[in-house]
Amino acid sequence: MTPPFWGPDFEALAQEDPEIAGILLSELDRQRGGLQLIASENFTSPAVLAALGSTLSNKYAEGYPGRRYYGGCAEVDKAELIGIERAKELFGAEHANLQPHSGASANIAAYGAFVKPGDTVLAMSLPHGGHLTHGSKVNFSGKWFNVVSYGVREDTELIDYDEVLQLAREHRPKLIICGATAYPRLIDFAAFRGIADEVGAILMVDAAHFIGLVAGKAIPSPVPYADVVCFTTHKVLRGPRGGMILCREEHAKAIDKAVFPMMQGGPLMHSVAAKAVALKEAATPEYQRYAADVISNAQALAAGLADEGMRPVSGGTDTHLALIDLQELGVTGTEAEERCDAVGITLNKNAIPYDPQPPAVASGIRVGTPCVTTQGMGVGDMKTVASLIGRAVRGDDSAAVRSEVTDLVSSYPAYPAD
Ligand SMILES: *Cc1c(COP(=O)(O)O)cnc(C)c1O
Repeated sequence: MTPPFWGPDFEALAQEDPEIAGILLSELDRQRGGLQLIASENFTSPAVLAALGSTLSNKYAEGYPGRRYYGGCAEVDKAELIGIERAKELFGAEHANLQPHSGASANIAAYGAFVKPGDTVLAMSLPHGGHLTHGSKVNFSGKWFNVVSYGVREDTELIDYDEVLQLAREHRPKLIICGATAYPRLIDFAAFRGIADEVGAILMVDAAHFIGLVAGKAIPSPVPYADVVCFTTHKVLRGPRGGMILCREEHAKAIDKAVFPMMQGGPLMHSVAAKAVALKEAATPEYQRYAADVISNAQALAAGLADEGMRPVSGGTDTHLALIDLQELGVTGTEAEERCDAVGITLNKNAIPYDPQPPAVASGIRVGTPCVTTQGMGVGDMKTVASLIGRAVRGDDSAAVRSEVTDLVSSYPAYPAD
């Protein structure tokens, strides 16, 4: 099918704005030319990119399907309704809102639906793996709410559910949040539900990192336990950059009103359409295999890094990411990030629980396998990747490591070669 006009036109961009066109090409080269191990990134499909680069970006559609504040919404209404149905079906949810512009926006809306400034919220502390929006002092959450934080136990490096219960009894939060950005293990949603019920709190699961594994049926779903599940669509889920919220029917009105008009204006309809495309892709058997492979690759990578003398926090991973303690090598997170960057391995420094270093230095790194698994790498390749990281972090012959990274990624091109 050839449409009468198709938006994305690289030649037109190159003519009109060679500066930006050049950056697009160099960034594609960068993404293809190195190992992308940032746990929160992925390579979207060409179909998702096509929806993103479409004329749906032109349309104002404040409101919801059938209840818009602008005319001409018939076509975008269809796209949003398809996306909502796909989300409800894929996750077994009673209600879905596809409009949040990002994961942080989804979280802001959930706060807006359930709490008022000054209310008490119980969430995971940032240094133990929580997100900025879970109560950091520099974020709206920490500025506007009375946030009480729980963490992981020092001996097991697993969430301390006894501490969560005790803090909930002591502080009677209105909202309890679980979900993290740097926690490699499964979360016991039933335990959190029990604690929330005991103190009469709303349970919000911030599934930004792992919702793709839930979509692919590779790990248990929070949906049966949570009042509200917020997430990003661009991490393991492999959709466009954006956010989404699932909730029980009883909260549907509150959530929709909190997204619009409380926290956002017009939705990004090109992104909503791209989310619908990603949800269709995530409902396939191929995607389910992908999600399982992401986890086996992360486990192989964590084991390989352990062989290189780097300790996986909590002893390993059940998900797509591993948090690695570098203290035994005497290298900081910052140094490791820089040394890896210099040889084409992109990952991030990360604080580990009870980290003696300040966050800007950090004693660890975080690695994730969504990108390399999309490229088609398997557990055998993860052994190679671990050894390349080990050599890079120790500062071994960097020219040789760079050239081996190039060889490895050129066997698994991130997007079809030209
Ligand atoms: C990534 C992430 C977010 C924020 O998503 P943005 O799209 O960057 O705003 C929120 N919560 C958690 C747990 C995350 O990992």
